[in-house]
Amino acid sequence: MSTIPSCKVIPAPPNISTACHISTTPYLSLFHAILLFFVVSTVSGLVFTEQAESAQSSERVQSGVREITDGWSLHWGDLEYSDGWKFEEAEWEDLTSPTDIPGRTNENILWLRIKVDKGQWRDPYIFVSSIDLTTQVFESGQLSYHFGEIDQDGNSHFEGWPWHLIPVNITTSPTSLYFRIYSDYPFIGLSGEVLIGNKADLLDRVYSRGITGAVFILIIFIAGLLSTSLGLIKKDSHVALSTGLLSFDLALMMFSENELSQVVYNDPLVWRYLAVFSYFLIPAFLALILREWFQRKQPAVFNAVFWIATAFAAGVALLSAFTDFNFVNAYPYFDALFIALVLALLISSASRYRSFGIQDGLVIFGILALFVSLLLDMLSSHALIDWIGRTGQWGLIFFTLAMLAVYFNKDWEQQITLRALTSSLELQVAERTQELTESQALLQQLAREDFLTGLLNRRAFMEQANGAVANAIRYYHPLSLMLFDIDFFKEINDTHGHATGDEILRALAKVAKKECREGDLICRYGGEEFVVLLHETPASDALMLVSRLQKVIQNIVVQSPDGKSVQITASFGLISYSRFQSDAEKEQYSTPSRLLELLLNQADQAMYDVKQTGRNGIREYTLK
Ligand code: GH3
Ligand code: MG
Ligand code: MG
Repeated sequence: MSTIPSCKVIPAPPNISTACHISTTPYLSLFHAILLFFVVSTVSGLVFTEQAESAQSSERVQSGVREITDGWSLHWGDLEYSDGWKFEEAEWEDLTSPTDIPGRTNENILWLRIKVDKGQWRDPYIFVSSIDLTTQVFESGQLSYHFGEIDQDGNSHFEGWPWHLIPVNITTSPTSLYFRIYSDYPFIGLSGEVLIGNKADLLDRVYSRGITGAVFILIIFIAGLLSTSLGLIKKDSHVALSTGLLSFDLALMMFSENELSQVVYNDPLVWRYLAVFSYFLIPAFLALILREWFQRKQPAVFNAVFWIATAFAAGVALLSAFTDFNFVNAYPYFDALFIALVLALLISSASRYRSFGIQDGLVIFGILALFVSLLLDMLSSHALIDWIGRTGQWGLIFFTLAMLAVYFNKDWEQQITLRALTSSLELQVAERTQELTESQALLQQLAREDFLTGLLNRRAFMEQANGAVANAIRYYHPLSLMLFDIDFFKEINDTHGHATGDEILRALAKVAKKECREGDLICRYGGEEFVVLLHETPASDALMLVSRLQKVIQNIVVQSPDGKSVQITASFGLISYSRFQSDAEKEQYSTPSRLLELLLNQADQAMYDVKQTGRNGIREYTLK
């Protein structure tokens, strides 16, 4: 006999799999759409930037804007002053470039002279990318431009690093311009580009440079927003927030240094404060990203870098607030510190190479790109390499894209895992469903079967017999029902044991099944009492079957445990009706269940008659 498998509570299979699909698919496609949109807009933004830059250089030639390379001279220290500066009495040294000043000792004042030919300009101005640090410009003995204040003794202080448009008088030609420049900074003089042209053309150039720079800033800003929000969605909030913070920090730094910031709000010193401190905090944010990225495992180096960078920025802020120290003078120190800190971060990250995955590689690549680009910027501002303009910003873009690629890859891996999980879940659900269906079928069968003999139990018999009787009534079919009971079965049990009794019951069920037809309903009605309902069987046929059954039952031989052959007999009661002749006759029995009850009673009565008259016999009744 098979055992009933333990029943587990299993949720309905179709809902599980659809629920999985519903919760993952739309979100994933939205995620990819955002990334795709971003990559497309980044690429087109950069292409636009490149085109705008190259258009600018050809415009410059067309509009007559040109670089002023020749005609520069210098004088270290202040000129003589009595009722005006003594320009012509001073000694002037020829100079090859105003952005590369040789021979500085301890001087804080430098004079530069440039001779300008009249040229073809309507409204000439000199554009200077930046001046270290403050300046006064004189033309024809008059102050024509100044940035910051320089007193008579040659003292001044830092005011920021804006771009400058210095007017040139066109009435006298050729004319000379004198720059009185103050700097207590490691650098003195002009830096970046020094151009001459019409004011409108120069401004146009400044604005279009500013706008192309703003495209980079916008990309970095949006990437920051994306990384942060995607990271939060992915429950990766620490890395996401630190990446987002760095992106916003970079965007702020770049905007403070962008040409347009001066147009938006004309206070170069405020922008410089923002630029300096956002720059000083870069290593701190990088350290945060890496610490969170490597899940705070052995964070000593990362923590150290974070605190050193933060302490440096805070120290500079405090010093410049409460002492004479000027925060821009911290730049050169920071540059050295920056290289040391970022190298420490990179080495510490690379030392974990054994457990490196694609994503770790991308993070390191992003940081390396950022490092290289800031290093190039640094070298260029220290005049160790040529002025690189916007090239350095590519590193920031690479960093941004690398961080986005990390999230893309993360999502990709999650998707693969999710798919594997979903399909294994579906498989499990299918297996469980199969098991459940099988056990349900088994349970149903067991509920209908007598466990010892496998025959119909009484309840199942009554259900099915009711249907059979109903059909017989409706279609005027004959029907027979036999009931038989083993004789002296108690004695057999008592003599040969209960197991032998069971064996006899099983053997009897087997032969009964064999003798009856396929559709006949054979039932173990009670302990050693059986009922058979014979479809479409008139009394004569039923009688033949009963006689046959009586014989085969007599022939059953079961061996008892003590080696004895045990045989049995049974007493049979049979009730038949040939068919109903009319509807009136049918109605006599009102319902199929009442007729069934009547048949069972009469068969029992017939069988009881046999028992009364000596057993091992057949009594046949016909329904009256
Ligand atoms: P009679 O000829 O008058 O029918 O006598 P009997 O002994 O067969 O009838 P009685 O009703 O006195 O006893 C029936 C016995 O059948 C009693 C009970 O122990 C036995 N029996 C009922 N179910 C089972 C069963 O599943 N296995 C076994 N081994 N014996 C059973
Ligand atoms: Mg009996
Ligand atoms: Mg009995």
